[in-house]
Amino acid sequence: MKDACAREITYLRLSVTDLCDLRCRYCMPPQGVPKRPHDEICSVEELVEIVRQAAALGVRKVRLTGGEPLVRRGILDICRGIAALEGVEEICLTTNGTALSRLALPLREAGVDRLNVSLDTLRPDCFAHMTRVGRLEDVLSGLEAARAAGFTGTKLNVVLMKGFNEDEITDFVNLTRREPLEVRFIELMPIGEGTREGFLPSSAVLEACPELEAVDVSGVARRYRVPGGRGLVGLIEPLSRCFCGGCDRIRVTADGRLKPCLHSDQEFPLRGLSGLALRRAIQEGIAAKPPRHHLAETGRSGAGRTMNQIGG
Ligand code: SAM
Ligand code: SF4
Repeated sequence: MKDACAREITYLRLSVTDLCDLRCRYCMPPQGVPKRPHDEICSVEELVEIVRQAAALGVRKVRLTGGEPLVRRGILDICRGIAALEGVEEICLTTNGTALSRLALPLREAGVDRLNVSLDTLRPDCFAHMTRVGRLEDVLSGLEAARAAGFTGTKLNVVLMKGFNEDEITDFVNLTRREPLEVRFIELMPIGEGTREGFLPSSAVLEACPELEAVDVSGVARRYRVPGGRGLVGLIEPLSRCFCGGCDRIRVTADGRLKPCLHSDQEFPLRGLSGLALRRAIQEGIAAKPPRHHLAETGRSGAGRTMNQIGG
């Protein structure tokens, strides 16, 4: 289905929980978020029914996210249920990677096609500081388990932060020389715990690695390659280069509310609906998708929720 700006909506980002085992400083408050009563969060069946109706409207790619999707009880049932739906061509999952050692193979067997793993630093002490509670070795062994389970095309999400990881840009880029990985540098957004102070523009990557050669534009990323490198370097620049004109996505929160845009407070409740009524509610949400966000002008997201509550 097309929205009012004639953008074809084919991509659903589905949050399966707002809980997380980490506390990244730019995403979550130190104490985490209160666990909500079970019945405030969509059940496995409700999530699968939402995707079924979205697929009937033309959604072809689904990304499971959160919070941390791998702490959600029933995550494998959710994946299996979505993989069995007509019309869904690709299931991706964004994770902090801490549970991949245990779950990579079951996820692959449950129908997940690709993973994005978030990793902002390759230094154990900096990782512990940024996540407040995490251990870098868990993520590194998770990445290894993903490879062993047969996942290919894994992407590493790196949020660029001034004074934190700008001196690691070349280390991340160097990973793409040896590995067929895509490292995606993401500009820090002023949403939730994210502030303007830590903002580092994506141009810092091109300045640190002038040898990068432009390859293409894929979805929201401008992609580059180190000459002769096996992998790719992507730049996702919500502030420096607004990509709303090509936006093909909608989001659904773990409590079953459709968000036509990450940075708008507009929400369409889907819970309690099924079949055609649910499909119509999703249609209404797509039709209301705003033309663009106003992050650069206002300096703050209008989302009204934090990233872990929306599904980053
Ligand atoms: N827990 C999973 C993870 O970390 O990959 C999935 C959810 S997390 C909210 C999804 C992505 O959003 C992560 O790559 C994270 O780094 C990113 N993110 C969170 N807050 C952000 C912010 N303020 N600006 C830019 N990216 C952010
Ligand atoms: Fe958790 Fe992901 Fe947010 Fe970090 S970015 S606190 S891993 S939801």
